Amino acid sequence: MFFKIMGSGNPTRLFVAGIHGNEEAITRPVLELLARDIEIKSGRLIMVGLSGGHPYISTLNKAYYDSAAGRKLLDMIHEYRPCIYLELHSYKMENHSKLIDPERKRKIGVPSFTELEEKVLIGSVSPLIRTTEFDVEDFCFTLEIPDPCSKNALQVVLDVLRVIALSSSRSEIVEKLRLKYPEQIGEAEKKFHEFFRDIRNLSFF
Ligand SMILES: [Zn+2]
Repeated sequence: MFFKIMGSGNPTRLFVAGIHGNEEAITRPVLELLARDIEIKSGRLIMVGLSGGHPYISTLNKAYYDSAAGRKLLDMIHEYRPCIYLELHSYKMENHSKLIDPERKRKIGVPSFTELEEKVLIGSVSPLIRTTEFDVEDFCFTLEIPDPCSKNALQVVLDVLRVIALSSSRSEIVEKLRLKYPEQIGEAEKKFHEFFRDIRNLSFF
């Protein structure tokens, strides 16, 4: 298991890779690269690569949180209580159209991802943890990295991770991302606002 804490105090940011073991080969090296050249000056950044080998279970399925990986993930969230939480996932190119399908909400009950650029997708986290493990004002974010990951896609991912790692609140992160990706952030906000409004009074991410 990859585990690294940088900095100390609040805010606490938790970045997790290897949530699905078969994605570890793509997602874990990204955290290792980030750790190599980032300096955390306020608060702390905790980076975790859950170990692989477990069967694939969607995080939209309650069974995931009963699996070994899911329990480990919940333990991390309970132990560190992050207010900034990020999941790194990866997807095979043949699933790209399914992930950004505008009909995804009708088909499987959750909003589609939004493409930032270079096939890097953004979304919220599973509603199963967004509404129970985090506060309304927390920042919860998923990055879906294409597999194979191009050099440009890796750069996009690292740039977004740096923005999140060096910010101290949801509003700061969202404002910075909006400067670079105004349309994409607007679209993602709209989807999550529509989605989470049905569940609880959450605004987005
Ligand atoms: Zn995944």
